[in-house]
Amino acid sequence: MKFGGSSLATAEKFNQVVQLINEQLQPVCAVFSAPQGITNDLIHLIELINQQQDITEQLDKISQQLIIISTDCTTFRAHFDATQSQQQTTQLLKQLRNLAQGCVLIGHCPPVTTAQILSVGEKFSTLLMADLLRTEQKVSVINPQLFLVTEEISDEPIADIELCQSRFKAHFSELENVALMPGFYGINPDGHMCLLGRNGSDYSAAILAVCTGANVCEIWTDVDGIYSVDPRWVKEAQLIKQMSYQEAMELSYFGAKILHPKTIIPLAKNHIQCVIKNTSNPQQLGTLISAKTGQEKAVKAISNLSDVAMINVSGPGMKGMVGMAARVFESMSAAKISVILISQSSSEYSISFCVPGNEANQAVKHLNEAFRLELKNGLLEPIDCRKNLAIITLIGDSMHQQKGTASRFFSALSHARVNIIAIAQDSSERSISAVVRAKRVEDAVVICHQQLFLKKPRIDAFLIGCGTVGKQLIQQIKKQKDWLSSKNIDLNLVGIANSKQCLLQGQGIDLNEWEDQLASCDEGLSLTRLKTFVRSAHLTNPVIIDCTSNQDIAMRYLDYLEANFHVVTANKKANTDSLSYYHKLHNMAAKRQRRFLYETNVGAGLPVIDNLQSLLRAGDRLLQFEGILSGSLSYIFGEIHRGLSLSEATDKARKLGYTEPNPAEDLNGMDVARKVLVIAREAGLELELNDVALEAVVPEYLANISDGDEFMRQLPNYDAEFQQLIDSAQAKQHKLKYVAVIKNNKCSVKIMPVNKAHPLFEIEAGENALAINTQYYQPKPFIIRGYGAGAEVTAAGLFGDLLRTLSWEQEH
Ligand code: ADP
Ligand code: ASP
Ligand code: MG
Repeated sequence: MKFGGSSLATAEKFNQVVQLINEQLQPVCAVFSAPQGITNDLIHLIELINQQQDITEQLDKISQQLIIISTDCTTFRAHFDATQSQQQTTQLLKQLRNLAQGCVLIGHCPPVTTAQILSVGEKFSTLLMADLLRTEQKVSVINPQLFLVTEEISDEPIADIELCQSRFKAHFSELENVALMPGFYGINPDGHMCLLGRNGSDYSAAILAVCTGANVCEIWTDVDGIYSVDPRWVKEAQLIKQMSYQEAMELSYFGAKILHPKTIIPLAKNHIQCVIKNTSNPQQLGTLISAKTGQEKAVKAISNLSDVAMINVSGPGMKGMVGMAARVFESMSAAKISVILISQSSSEYSISFCVPGNEANQAVKHLNEAFRLELKNGLLEPIDCRKNLAIITLIGDSMHQQKGTASRFFSALSHARVNIIAIAQDSSERSISAVVRAKRVEDAVVICHQQLFLKKPRIDAFLIGCGTVGKQLIQQIKKQKDWLSSKNIDLNLVGIANSKQCLLQGQGIDLNEWEDQLASCDEGLSLTRLKTFVRSAHLTNPVIIDCTSNQDIAMRYLDYLEANFHVVTANKKANTDSLSYYHKLHNMAAKRQRRFLYETNVGAGLPVIDNLQSLLRAGDRLLQFEGILSGSLSYIFGEIHRGLSLSEATDKARKLGYTEPNPAEDLNGMDVARKVLVIAREAGLELELNDVALEAVVPEYLANISDGDEFMRQLPNYDAEFQQLIDSAQAKQHKLKYVAVIKNNKCSVKIMPVNKAHPLFEIEAGENALAINTQYYQPKPFIIRGYGAGAEVTAAGLFGDLLRTLSWEQEH
């Protein structure tokens, strides 16, 4: 049983561990790490010594933590006599003080003393644990310096297992049924104390398991076992019940901190099972690591290795030159630099490989020496070294049986907008790795996990504008919660902004309480604030939803797209601004691989833009268009033919809330002009808003009135004139409609009499209709008809666009 620092953080935890050891079938060996944080504190102590700074405070901090643990143990174990333990602790701390002060005198910390200092935590845990267990039984303590011999002198040495076994036999033929050992250290071939590297107690336990002929090596830690991804990063990480030695090896090699990378090799060789278990939740079965992979998914886990550097050796001299790779790696091996990953281009023009970040400078120095002549003669380019990188790796024994894993991996990375710098796959296809920028690794891991394990696409939505449409959209998102989860879609509204305030919550805003929460926000919306928020909350699919009709917000879309937001909008201002802005937006969306969606710009929820785009993508061409694009005017014109005057019809529509507060904004035709321009531009016509020949419903003197009530007062003055239009239409059995037209590459908006045979004849009562003649649809147009205004249908259209942000790849 090996207990890590997380299992030894407090006296209470020590007590839990005592119980676990007591409950274990004997004989049992237990290996201990230092209490949590102590190794880091000791490392800091050595840094202070080497920097010749004062160490008093740091020594006090370490002493205090250890003394508190040993003193507190009396609270948990009735028969425990703390005096002896405290004496031991005092003794150990005195040794530490002496060693540290000795180093202060000589101005640095030599390797053996470093090992002696850094191993104090492990020694403390073991001594205290022995005292605690001795209250109930006899206990032996194993000194690793008597048998745990490593093969070479290095920072991460390998144990000479055969030698360890024979020494173990020689020294420990008689052990009590409970034997304890400090982890993390042994001796080097010269007989000096040495460390096994960070997390080395796992390795100590594996070596002891082999030497004692154990059936199983249990690693007790602070999580229920090995997860599909570090559970500290991804809360939906899945527990893996069983994995093979090779899988565990790859996982730890590629950075999963849960196991020291060398732990598995001696266990696998000696067929010793390894189980990862949780000290605070011992009932949980944990993860079994054995020769079998288990019946789980092909991709078992994702891990990541941070702080790596990639070195690139390239140049014309590389091509066809036999033995270049050997020379590159020989020079790394001579410098004792471990090469983590290699990728070579098939042209043999370059070799790229990764090394630990802290060894990058050394690596470059050695390569410069090894290839001095080639560099001097221009056969090689100067050695290139990229720092601040990370490796993200997929692991699974059965990956080779499943096609398309690599493609899903890379598409997930592309979805997360993470650039892949290099790729490597081992020939057994047990692991696939991608080198990425360290800054992006957390996002990369999160989204790869989402897409490969949870298969749960995610949308992080920011709503701007919470008027009727915005509110309705929030309602719909709330209502569709179960449907979304049945479709495995994780739609979170993470931001809501009005003109003054902006509420942001990375886990998703509580849709029952957003109004109060928004009201209490002090800060407003800004791109910088959103960008920082997206980064810190690791949002991978942010979408701006604009439910305003605000020009300023529309003019920010370019920045949003550039900052990798999708933009979904009901606001027509952006698409009807200058052609040059229109093109910039569409180009930026393509460049950033983001979606710019505005289905609700025309016909609210009616599927106009999407249909049009589908046809155009299939090679169709718009020939002619006629449509009723305003719900309020559709209603007003309907009422007119039922006998109401223009002002009566408008008044009725206004009272029903079908018009803008100032109906002049409907009757001036501008909104329809914008809509027809959106359609025309979609069809490829390069037109500006003032190219649309706009004929308002009312004359200019009325159309320009800016106050709604004043407009309504003056509108009756125009009734008589308008009535003449109606009468002359009705005399010919025609109806008047307010129609947007695209014909001969020109747009117009006007009052048009239509006869019974016309597809727009029946359209009234707020309905919209679009009659679209295309090369494929002629002579009869295809018709889209339905309510084209109202909060519900508009929100539904936005909701549809929101879901479309998930399918960028499918459509490009
Ligand atoms: P100990 O103190 O027991 O040695 P460590 O902190 O060294 O514990 O290792 C346990 C930690 O490893 C967990 O708390 C977890 O955050 C991290 N970890 C990283 N990758 C994984 C993974 N795939 N599954 C489980 N834990 C992981
Ligand atoms: N205490 C050492 C470390 O923190 C060894 C270990 O925990 O395994 O790295
Ligand atoms: Mg550990």
